[in-house]
Amino acid sequence: MNRPELLAPAGDFASVDAALDHGADAVYAGIGPFNLRAHAPNFTPDDLPELLERIHARQRKLYVAFNIMPDRQRLTAMEKLLRKLAGAGTLPDAFIVSDPGVIQFCKEIALPSSLHLSTQTGTFNERSLAFWKEQGIQRVILPRELPLTQIAGLAASGLLETEAFIHGAMCVSISGRCLMGAYLEGRHPNRGDCPQPCRWKYRITPVSENDDSVSEVKRLDVEENEEGAYLLNSCDLCTIGILPDIIRSGVTALKIEGRNKSAHYVAAVVKTYRAAMDAWFSHPGTYSVAGEWKRLLESIEHRPYTTGFYTGEISMQEVFISKAASATRIVGVVKALLPEGLPVIDVKNSFTIREPLEILPVNQTRMPFPVTVSRLTDLSGNEISRALSNRLVVAHGAACIQTGDILRRNEGNH
Ligand code: SF4
Repeated sequence: MNRPELLAPAGDFASVDAALDHGADAVYAGIGPFNLRAHAPNFTPDDLPELLERIHARQRKLYVAFNIMPDRQRLTAMEKLLRKLAGAGTLPDAFIVSDPGVIQFCKEIALPSSLHLSTQTGTFNERSLAFWKEQGIQRVILPRELPLTQIAGLAASGLLETEAFIHGAMCVSISGRCLMGAYLEGRHPNRGDCPQPCRWKYRITPVSENDDSVSEVKRLDVEENEEGAYLLNSCDLCTIGILPDIIRSGVTALKIEGRNKSAHYVAAVVKTYRAAMDAWFSHPGTYSVAGEWKRLLESIEHRPYTTGFYTGEISMQEVFISKAASATRIVGVVKALLPEGLPVIDVKNSFTIREPLEILPVNQTRMPFPVTVSRLTDLSGNEISRALSNRLVVAHGAACIQTGDILRRNEGNH
């Protein structure tokens, strides 16, 4: 059986490094405003040479999301950008596309980049796969709403490469076919600007029987506690428990959602799924979810987890109380090792000596382990008791640390 590609999101260079360090085979990113995460940091066209160099130097791949549904003005701007990238010789391994007009000019201008069809397009059956193959598409990113039995059938057709989501946020609509954000806020999901009203809290106002402005009153049963009620909020997808079934479905690539997420989040999720995939391919008969994988996935910001539609049990759209929560906070990243082996920490959130911390190691086979910093100095060797945010400090007494390792604090929320 072919090993599927592990595909990670990246909203900035730190997330690219985290994805590569922790075992992603490919990274997807947005360049400029023409992707469905308009509020992710995204990259500029001028970032592309460095982005390609970092990723290709490690024999991994870069896919660029180019998947908004553009009006005429945006379509023209997209074509102009594509010509600029092609002229500069900075084309990614693939573009993620959805609009037929964009597909058309990508085929003319963007060779040899492959074309991957965005999940936004909604490809549910073999006829659609055959149609998109005729249009020059190489891979289809399947809807999260398909059960695994149907995904296996599409993969087995051999018509196109297939990609399935394995972790991250879900839409309560069919992969973004939703105008709620546009209706309530004038912000369009299909231009990457969804304000996520499905995640908002709503207050329900009783309607008086004498209110003539309401012609029909429908009954909606809602569960509520002291925090209120979420009417539409969905759980987050987590497939670590059914990963063997997803691998056996024969898909070409396993995708992690989250270009808005932090490098810490990307590192933890990529690391967990890399470990799980490697474990399954080494000993497929004895796969079970390790406690440390569960702990790692529980330690990052997330809503309650679900396997979504994959098993055929549609549990993700229950009305329930849900809040994103994180049990850990990044405090720094190891930027370099000094000749004597001491790590230089790029501090993201302040920490002190002797505070209980944890290392999320770049080493793909090592899981997080505790660490205690016994001394801190600045780069000139002066003693300091607290590492302040956005400074470089030298940590003493922390053993077994490598460049790229993440230091984090257990916030004890779980
Ligand atoms: S409002 Fe929610 S369901 Fe609709 S597109 Fe945005 S995230 Fe998806």
